[in-house]
Amino acid sequence: MSRVSLQTLIDRSVRNMGAVMPQIRTLAVELITRSYNEGIHVQISSGYRSNTQQASIYGMGRPNYWWNGKHYGNTGSIVSNAQPGQSVHNYGLAIDYFLVSNDGLKAIWVVNAQWRRVAQIGKSLGFTWGGDWKGFVDAPHLEYTKGLTWRDLQAGKRPSFGSVQAAAERDYLENGDEGAAVEEMQKLLIALGHKITADGIFGPASEAALKAFQSSRKLSADGVYGPQSKKALQAAVKPPAVPGASAPTKNDPKEETILFKPNSPTFRKETIKLFEDAHTVGIFSSREHAEQTEKGDISESDAIGAIATILNRVGILQDPNAEPYPAHKDATEWVKEKGISDGSRPTLPATRQQVNQMFYNYDKQK
Ligand SMILES: [Zn+2]
Repeated sequence: MSRVSLQTLIDRSVRNMGAVMPQIRTLAVELITRSYNEGIHVQISSGYRSNTQQASIYGMGRPNYWWNGKHYGNTGSIVSNAQPGQSVHNYGLAIDYFLVSNDGLKAIWVVNAQWRRVAQIGKSLGFTWGGDWKGFVDAPHLEYTKGLTWRDLQAGKRPSFGSVQAAAERDYLENGDEGAAVEEMQKLLIALGHKITADGIFGPASEAALKAFQSSRKLSADGVYGPQSKKALQAAVKPPAVPGASAPTKNDPKEETILFKPNSPTFRKETIKLFEDAHTVGIFSSREHAEQTEKGDISESDAIGAIATILNRVGILQDPNAEPYPAHKDATEWVKEKGISDGSRPTLPATRQQVNQMFYNYDKQK
């Protein structure tokens, strides 16, 4: 089985991100690339969300919800507390991610070491991670707000991107640059004993440390971190062990890979488990549901209702017009053949009825 290409992960992600701000697209591509270089396969499941899409998401689990004179209410579980204009996604400044298997065919929805490593890379790029939030944990979510709230964004304010994007497109770094590449350089200098901070900001201290290193290697001490200095610095430092680069332990239930396997005889059980695990890792931002899960009183119908949402967030069913993933293509063929569904993919968001109907048909054909 060959490894999924970096370009495939980027192409799928760019498609899923939609109309995010161009700087966010650049940062997301850098996030995917840096993760890939560490052996981690990450994909973006969503990015920009229009206010209409936000209304549909907010309406889930709120049957009487109306917005702008239109009915957006739906049955199922509450999945978001953000109304149109209240989500950073509505401003093209947030992305959601998930891990995929080595061959790129299966979504992995477990907050394991690799998942947290991606979050760490995201943070070094200037994102805030939803997994750090208290109470309202949103593990797939990365947003770039630099402290601005949705009210600030609604008032027209936008975060500063500094020189993050410019630095990502050049093959050198210099005083004034920010971002993951700067952090990487700083870590190497620190490993050589320089007393600087790996904060991702190329300031005077970093410049002085770099110049000292350049002098020691008989390179021109210009304080510019170009390809030659980079090569010399990397050669001088043995690369540190990368956290999360190893495969998760197979028998640790917490690190178990969750797969969407409709042709498994235990499909129903697995999907409910998928739902419960999704709660455990904080995929749903609904506080009531998190509390219910903790108390263990989530009913099966609630679980089923939420599955559609999971599938959406995984990105498998996200865009009805997009080319399905190969794994999902097979699943679709299977459910069609068994008469469980007509093979058409639920639109965003998939409804509880659609999933209930699917389970009903599934039970019937057994
Ligand atoms: Zn999000």
